[in-house]
Amino acid sequence: MSTPQPIQTAPRRYQLFIDGQFVDAESGETFKSPNPATGETFAEVAEADKADVDKAVAAARKAMTGKWSKMSARDRGRLLYKLSQLIEQRAAELAELETSDNGKPIRESTYIDLPGVVENFEYFAGWATKIEGETIPVPGQMFNYTLREPVGVCGQIIPWNFPLLMAAWKLAPALAAGNTVVLKPAEQTPVTSLELAKLIQEAGFPEGVVNIIPGYGETAGAALASHPGIDKIAFTGSTEVGKLIAKAAAENLTKVSLELGGKAPNVIFADADLDQAVNGAMMGIFFNQGQVCCAGSRLFVEEKVKEEFLGRFKEKAEKIKVGDPMDKSTLMGPQVSEEQLNKIKSYVGVAREEGATIFAGGEQPKLEGALQNGYFFQPTIFSEVNNRMRVAQEEIFGPVSSVITFDNDDDLIRQANETMYGLSAGIWTRDITRAHRFARAVKAGVVWINTYNMFNAASPFGGYKQSGYGREMGKHALELYTQVKSVWVDLSGKPIGWFGQ
Ligand code: ADP
Repeated sequence: MSTPQPIQTAPRRYQLFIDGQFVDAESGETFKSPNPATGETFAEVAEADKADVDKAVAAARKAMTGKWSKMSARDRGRLLYKLSQLIEQRAAELAELETSDNGKPIRESTYIDLPGVVENFEYFAGWATKIEGETIPVPGQMFNYTLREPVGVCGQIIPWNFPLLMAAWKLAPALAAGNTVVLKPAEQTPVTSLELAKLIQEAGFPEGVVNIIPGYGETAGAALASHPGIDKIAFTGSTEVGKLIAKAAAENLTKVSLELGGKAPNVIFADADLDQAVNGAMMGIFFNQGQVCCAGSRLFVEEKVKEEFLGRFKEKAEKIKVGDPMDKSTLMGPQVSEEQLNKIKSYVGVAREEGATIFAGGEQPKLEGALQNGYFFQPTIFSEVNNRMRVAQEEIFGPVSSVITFDNDDDLIRQANETMYGLSAGIWTRDITRAHRFARAVKAGVVWINTYNMFNAASPFGGYKQSGYGREMGKHALELYTQVKSVWVDLSGKPIGWFGQ
């Protein structure tokens, strides 16, 4: 039976979303977003640059003092909840659009991305009415309390690996806290953010509260990050660009939160349930074509079980169905772009030069029909890696596992922490003491024990070290989008006894 082939239709067309309206870019320019499974143009999209960023920031500033600022917390929450319901109603269609724009298998967009988007808007809808100040027990006849206020206009720059989900992680807490937003989706995947804009309009958010302006990083992204009219910039993407964002923000002392790269250790101890551990290793590195900042890309395997584990890992990796992402049985689709594909291929060369072994994969799979032009890559395992090699230190952002062996806990912890990154870590063992010791010792913002890639809107996510700062999701995300004001009131009614008498 042949696999269904994607049907190419005329490119979809999209405009920018500014001040509640869909508009062309000031320059009239557009850019093309390809379907990564075929390389054919999937959408043609208005291309924002500095002039559009200026317009969007002005709209967001105006909205910050308008109807939105006077709206009750309850009504803000209701709008967010309504948005979550509108997304849920259109989830199947949005999942298909996500798969066509990004290349991720439809089973992922359907069962992971879209439910996550709905969950985040729903979760933060509930927070709108629960953002509270405190009363502080100060001495004397004084009353001191805090107000927790929105930060203001938030610039948000998101990546292409979970396009709509990243939009939800950014928008939901910002809006729950009463901010306004200028969101720049990645140029590779602008479509679902602009579909979301339609639902934001339909839900009834006041004009200018959310502005969505796709464009390139060096133009629209850089103009947004350095804009003096924004109060906060939130970014998810590479550590390299994160540093540029932090520098640009420093110029205006704009508040910053960054969720950056990773090179996570995923650790297999000999006492683990090896079947589960093999599945965990696969989930860690092959999920979403390995395009995950918290991917378990350094696989540490205890020397004693190396042979058995690697044999099983390879066998399963080679069985992964790579192909048409619209086919429900496909487990891996194409990488997002030719540029990413080429980067991954170049690391196969690096692995060889460094003396690692290409233990599985390492090439583009042979596919038929329109898929021949897609950006597909085989699930790949490098063995005989040591932790100092480039393939163990640099983020490849593809389905490439670098396997390193270890023979005791101390040696493991030292190596696990020998990286500039610190986003996440995984451990597979039946020994709970060892698991919790590792969780304490590893320098990472998230640790998974006998599981991997678990997320929930209520649970904080973010990095140690050069994986960034700030925590998204959970109540911690509200810290990023609120600021505290301390208010003092004299209750004594007496004259001020200092210079006053
Ligand atoms: P990747 O390398 O995975 O493509 P990037 O960090 O380059 O990730 O991109 C993440 C997001 O950052 C995208 O929306 C991209 O357009 C944006 N971006 C890229 N370069 C810059 C820049 N110099 N300033 C601001 N945003 C940028």
